[in-house]
Amino acid sequence: MIDSHIHSDTRPYEDFEKMALCFDCAITLAHDPLEPYSMDILRAHFDKIIYNEIERANKTGLKLFVCLGIHPRMIPSDVNYNILREYLKAKNVVGVGEIGLEKCTKEEIEVFEEQLLMAQELNLPAVVHTPRRNKKETTKTILEVIDSLGLYKDAEKNIIIEHCTKETVPMIYDTVMNMGLTVQPSKLTPMDAVEIVKEYGGERFLLNSDSSSAPSDIMGVPKTVLKMKMNNIDNEIIKMVSHDNAKNIFGLDI
Ligand SMILES: [Zn+2]
Repeated sequence: MIDSHIHSDTRPYEDFEKMALCFDCAITLAHDPLEPYSMDILRAHFDKIIYNEIERANKTGLKLFVCLGIHPRMIPSDVNYNILREYLKAKNVVGVGEIGLEKCTKEEIEVFEEQLLMAQELNLPAVVHTPRRNKKETTKTILEVIDSLGLYKDAEKNIIIEHCTKETVPMIYDTVMNMGLTVQPSKLTPMDAVEIVKEYGGERFLLNSDSSSAPSDIMGVPKTVLKMKMNNIDNEIIKMVSHDNAKNIFGLDI
């Protein structure tokens, strides 16, 4: 199994020990660590993920891959894309994220666009956050922004729209993009994910827990896999959403 979206730097060592028992690997993403939102803070955040987190996880036997990017809740006042570009070339970095929109301000949209173009340029997947509030409207705006950039089809196939719900899946299903299903206390229940996969199949869906400092369940993916088995979802489909799709999209060496 793969948990395709966590924020490992917010979790204790003991969580890694538990995850190592059932996961082939997990992907940890940059987020909004602390204020003031400056490039110095962002660099310290990136360094911590690349150097400390991978090592901390490895000690428990949990393999960790990394996505780096500027989260819409943490746009530095001195934003510098060249610094981000250099970090994206580091070892174990497999994608750009977490990027996306929170309040749809002009500044957020500009930073989002720049990073989507950078993901295309570096041929990396992009992990796109959708917010809790105004999810449907913001997801629509996100799709419009992506459409307006005229990205290559291959680059669009490399995009994962995160934290999808029954309401937003139909919009994204009509594109070539992928859909992240986040199972945690304030997002989807395992049964919500079962129902979505029953209706749409497993292609282009990825399970994750988005474990962070907010209420989370690091066992969100295994619990969902179990519920899928109990609800007679095809083994091939379960493997796709809990392992294969993430492995292929991020090109994981596992
Ligand atoms: Zn997240």
